[in-house]
Amino acid sequence: MKACNACQRPLPPEAFPKAGSRGREGTCTVCVNDRRRLRAPLPDLVRDCEQVRINNAAALWFGPVRPMPRYAV
Ligand SMILES: [Zn+2]
Repeated sequence: MKACNACQRPLPPEAFPKAGSRGREGTCTVCVNDRRRLRAPLPDLVRDCEQVRINNAAALWFGPVRPMPRYAV
């Protein structure tokens, strides 16, 4: 058993990738996949026309966002 450098879990040696692990020595496959997922670009936000309309109406009603909360609505 060998402990992962990133998540500190004791894992068998099969859980550690061997190919191309120059910068992540002793990092398990799960942590490598997490890092890959974080590096990948996020998908575009799908524009919801109804939500945009609701947000615009709310912004017209309540005004722009303030750093301090408004106490009386
Ligand atoms: Zn790990």
